[in-house]
Amino acid sequence: MIGDQRHSDIRDGVRALCADFPAKYFREVDERRAYPEEFVTALTKAGWLAALIPQEYGGSGLGVGEASVIMEEINRCGGNAGACHGQLYNMGTLLRHGSAEQKAEWLPLIATGELRLQSMAVTEPSAGTQTTAITTMATRRGDRYIVNGQKVWTSRLLHSDLMILLARTTPIPQVRKKSEGLSTFLVDLRQSIGRGMTIRPIANMVNHETFEVFFENLEIPAANLIGREGQGFHQVLDGLNAERAIIAAECIGDGYWFIDKVARYASERVVFGRPIGANQGVQFPIAQALIEVEAANLMRWRACELFDAGMPCGTEANMAKYLAAKASWEAGEACLQFHGGFGFAAEYDVERKFRETRLYQVAPISTNLILAHVAEHVLGLPRSF
Ligand SMILES: Cc1cc2nc3c(=O)[nH]c(=O)nc-3n(C[C@H](O)[C@H](O)[C@H](O)COP(=O)(O)OP(=O)(O)OC[C@H]3O[C@@H](n4cnc5c(N)ncnc54)[C@H](O)[C@@H]3O)c2cc1C
Repeated sequence: MIGDQRHSDIRDGVRALCADFPAKYFREVDERRAYPEEFVTALTKAGWLAALIPQEYGGSGLGVGEASVIMEEINRCGGNAGACHGQLYNMGTLLRHGSAEQKAEWLPLIATGELRLQSMAVTEPSAGTQTTAITTMATRRGDRYIVNGQKVWTSRLLHSDLMILLARTTPIPQVRKKSEGLSTFLVDLRQSIGRGMTIRPIANMVNHETFEVFFENLEIPAANLIGREGQGFHQVLDGLNAERAIIAAECIGDGYWFIDKVARYASERVVFGRPIGANQGVQFPIAQALIEVEAANLMRWRACELFDAGMPCGTEANMAKYLAAKASWEAGEACLQFHGGFGFAAEYDVERKFRETRLYQVAPISTNLILAHVAEHVLGLPRSF
């Protein structure tokens, strides 16, 4: 069988669970634009979404490498980890920067599944990719922060209890660098939606539950500030590196799924008296996709190993996400093309997976921005922005 076999115990466990939630389940959820609640509940009960929580708080104390395997396997089995991946990478901000009191208060509840930490609000409509230009303000008043502003594309809000929020605590004119004066907060959504926080769903191309968010004098206890005020940008960047590595793994899972599916189909589908897969015009794009998925996988492991060793890994995490998103897209393209008309039929799941994997060239970071990072921070070329 093609594919990475590292951490085969984790792979076997996740595959066994996914056997109860086959591609058909995700297809029907997609058609209803619903949330795969039964699947996420089963995943939580089995402990997979507490993978990164240290054992002292009730989790399994695994690293981002192992967590990425869990998400990879969901996509490899025909599912969509986008419904639940937030809990794994959002966790990093709390784990690495939260106080002992915050960890003791929240982590055991997240580990048991009593609470979900699935959401993170960073993107704003007027700032876009330029995160340092965000204007949502959190102003300290006694033992509270008062939040005003707007976010966009905040995902899984109706299926999460907690959200990591990035907001300005010092206005831009009062900071030396735009990356200063930003802070992260843990927002208890149960006490916020409808009380200073209004949400509006965004209908979109994939079945991704995501919202516009409006803050009007939302009150957050000062105790929910994560780490030191003003350090939020660097805290979030840490979490974003985990996010990129985990999403790279999801793309790799998609890539293997597409390749398995199309290789099987191309061996069976007979046109002009022979299997279509006997033609090199069909073989080569599939072979090329596999080579690219395998190469992306190596960079994914490099990023995970550096992250788990606590080393800087921004460049590697970005490169892994770039390579994996591109490879899964090319595998998806070959899979769709060689299914001919049937690729467009929902019952084959190819068109759904094709849409789902396309997202990752735009979110959580656009490929152009990765290229700009490499050009300017690795190659030392003059800055373009
Ligand atoms: C389904 C979905 C779910 C999401 N979930 C979340 C979430 O949970 N939380 C959250 O905070 N955000 C979320 N996002 C937001 C996502 O991270 C952003 O959409 C993404 O980072 C791109 O930002 P933007 O849409 O503002 O694009 P823009 O910044 O407006 O950029 C548009 C395009 O212009 C190009 N571009 C921009 N600047 C440059 C440049 N300097 N050089 C070259 N090209 C450039 C890029 O190709 C880019 O794709 C989600 C998005 C989607 C679609």
